[in-house]
Amino acid sequence: MRKMTKKVRIGDRAIGGDSPILIQSMTCTPTSDFEGTLGQILELEKAGCDIARVTVNNMDAVRNVYRLKENSHIPLVADVHFDYRFAVEAAHAGIDKIRINPGNIGNKNNVKKVVDACREKNIPIRIGVNSGSVERNILFECKGPTAQALYLSAMAEVRILEELDFNDIVISVKSSDVHTMIEANRLISQACDYPLHLGVTEAGLPESGIVKSAIGIGSLLTDGIGDTIRVSLTTRDLKQEVIAAKKILAACNLLEHHIDVISCPTCGRTQVDLVSLASKVEEEIEKRQIRPKRNLKVAVMGCVVNGPGEATWADVGIAGGTKDVLLFTHEGASFKKIPEENAVERLMEEIVRLSEEES
Ligand code: SF4
Repeated sequence: MRKMTKKVRIGDRAIGGDSPILIQSMTCTPTSDFEGTLGQILELEKAGCDIARVTVNNMDAVRNVYRLKENSHIPLVADVHFDYRFAVEAAHAGIDKIRINPGNIGNKNNVKKVVDACREKNIPIRIGVNSGSVERNILFECKGPTAQALYLSAMAEVRILEELDFNDIVISVKSSDVHTMIEANRLISQACDYPLHLGVTEAGLPESGIVKSAIGIGSLLTDGIGDTIRVSLTTRDLKQEVIAAKKILAACNLLEHHIDVISCPTCGRTQVDLVSLASKVEEEIEKRQIRPKRNLKVAVMGCVVNGPGEATWADVGIAGGTKDVLLFTHEGASFKKIPEENAVERLMEEIVRLSEEES
């Protein structure tokens, strides 16, 4: 059961409460490069990203916030470190959310200026604490960047904003250690009702980064914790972060209007090139941008002996035979032999038909 958190508005979207779990990512261009940054934002949008974060670390970046907002169709977040003035100016330039760590913005007066600007513009602040930004005395007390240290540090930051009577807050506590990240988020979730932004930081190259993120983010989501997610990868292809985030949500049954393609690992009974078949089905679904009214499960199985039985709960599926392929529907409601060369097209027809069905 999902934990009900406070709902925080960000542009025309909302994080927390009963809102869908939003996918975030971040551009990696200098925000002073308007064309490059806008290109990445549009690419992220196209891949299905809900919120994009941009670095705001100089006045050229601040100046571009206004134009980026004009050309972006999804909410934008300003990522600010150390200099409170960039946060204040980004708020005035129309940014939808500010990500700061109040502890590194300087004295209370600076934090107040950021809070005042956010209050005036009605935009939230994400308190982002990670292993590298835990307060020194907490680090000492906890003997390192433990889950407890991340939790205490984040709550200390929260108190700074609450003392200024500001509670339009989203919290993130990130670590590159999956266990630490999970435990820290559990502690925060028990302690308060602010929405949580989940992510494993410095997760690495895609191959290991996706696994770490899936375990860290997925464990929390299946416990009902988390309101927005970011998969952080070292990659030139930003879309990978969004695609991985979508797959994590889908695996946790938290993605709506989704088509889940399941396929078997193949074995000695397999009589078709299942890798090509399953890839073609995925590609066709992606290409046709099918958005079913309810979630669908589509099976691509390697043999007719066990395939339909193993995938009996799929809405529709195909199983490879010697020359023909078997097209089958939910719980064995129907079976039809079709020539292998028509298999993908016939399956797609069924998927399109089922996509129109209400749940
Ligand atoms: S469905 Fe058939 S081919 Fe695939 S793993 Fe099971 S038995 Fe093997």
